Amino acid sequence: MTTPRDQLRAIPAVEILLRNPGLDSIRNSFSHMALVRLVRRVLADVRGEVLEGRLTEAPAEAELTDRVVAEAGRLLAPGPLPMINATGVILHTNLGRAPLSLAALEAVAQAAAGYSNLEYDLVRGVRGSRQSHVEGLLAFLSGAEAALAVNNNAAAVLLALNSLADGKEVLVSRGELVEIGGSFRIPDIMKKSGARLVEVGTTNKTHRSDFEKAIGPDTALILKVHTSNYRIEGFTADVPLAEMGEIGAAHGLPVMVDVGSGALVDVSTRGVEKEPLVSECLAQGADLVTFSGDKLLGGPQAGLVVGRSDLVRRLKDNPLARCVRLDKLSLAALAATLRSFLDPENAWHDIPVLAMLARTEDELQASAELLAAELVAGSSGRLTAEVVVAQAAVGGGALPLAGLATRAVAVQVTGLTPDRLERRLRQGVPPILVRIQNDRVLFDLRTISPAERAALPDLVSRAIGS
Ligand SMILES: *Cc1c(COP(=O)(O)O)cnc(C)c1O
Repeated sequence: MTTPRDQLRAIPAVEILLRNPGLDSIRNSFSHMALVRLVRRVLADVRGEVLEGRLTEAPAEAELTDRVVAEAGRLLAPGPLPMINATGVILHTNLGRAPLSLAALEAVAQAAAGYSNLEYDLVRGVRGSRQSHVEGLLAFLSGAEAALAVNNNAAAVLLALNSLADGKEVLVSRGELVEIGGSFRIPDIMKKSGARLVEVGTTNKTHRSDFEKAIGPDTALILKVHTSNYRIEGFTADVPLAEMGEIGAAHGLPVMVDVGSGALVDVSTRGVEKEPLVSECLAQGADLVTFSGDKLLGGPQAGLVVGRSDLVRRLKDNPLARCVRLDKLSLAALAATLRSFLDPENAWHDIPVLAMLARTEDELQASAELLAAELVAGSSGRLTAEVVVAQAAVGGGALPLAGLATRAVAVQVTGLTPDRLERRLRQGVPPILVRIQNDRVLFDLRTISPAERAALPDLVSRAIGS
């Protein structure tokens, strides 16, 4: 019987393993030093397994080189991988939210490839501000006096609270103490900002008098949070923004709205439930509005602040602004995205998120019929497909109850459970994410581009192995 000591002795030395031709396939991707470190790491793992009794025999050299190549593969694997989103969830946070418009993609490529006047004033020949590329557009499109773009909306809220209410009190209705996407909770952000949260009213009802009674000498801000991802229904009351504006004005307190998705065009014109327009929030009395760049705006990850110039100035002057600043690639994409909104018809056409929202049921029906026929034709008789009416979702914490009627192709494959088909599609190249409903795999046409639709029959045929 071999003891662990014998087994440890049988493990080849690093130099021996390094000469093994089994590593030839990865030599070009790693320097000699890096390969040495990789081999050492694998051998250390193997020794550990021997000592813990998980290996009863020292692995052969071929097995060891296989492990090194597998380890190398994990480092070399490209990512993030492009995917086909067949879920129907337009702003899928796990899939990167908003695909960019062509104009935004071009702007990113140009900004990334060389130098740019990111922070350079070409007219005066001196240092400029990166905000100059978006501030005018944001102010013009929303009707605000001033604007600021930062890394994301969570950062925008944190920066605003810290700039306007550090060590002071902020009033928020109890019905709006929301959590968005797990890690963004209004009470937690408030604490980190240094502001003290004062809860006003109750979960389902908050009245004007609740706010008025809560105002004291330490109050610095009144905050309204758009309950993006849920609704309180039934016996409810909240204070309309216009009234909050009146209360703020009467007491000399700014009113800020975290509107979340922040639409620049009215999505209800395309049959979707109304989402607050940024310009309306300002017109109704908000002094500051914060929203995301990659939700209904359809641009890159960003946090946008628009409103009164004296308040925006305080945010800009806060040292934290430097910590949450927007990078040049996102800034380029954001500026290009915003330009599309100068003509809303361009925005509806050019910005993928809006184009997907605007797809009519007739268009979706026609695409779905085509896809169903091609899937069946490519499957050697193993696949059945039916066009069904389904509910897509806007996602991204927007429009919680707004089911968006869509068309999907519901698929069943003989000899393959829906779960296994779902897994094979997810692990294919490119990965395809679907949903399962009533024991069938659903391909939702709302989020599938025409090019992806054309590629799907081949990809599905490969996944089912026909
Ligand atoms: C989505 C959302 C946020 C967070 O925005 P990010 O851009 O993801 O940081 C904050 N507040 C509300 C109301 C939201 O809907």
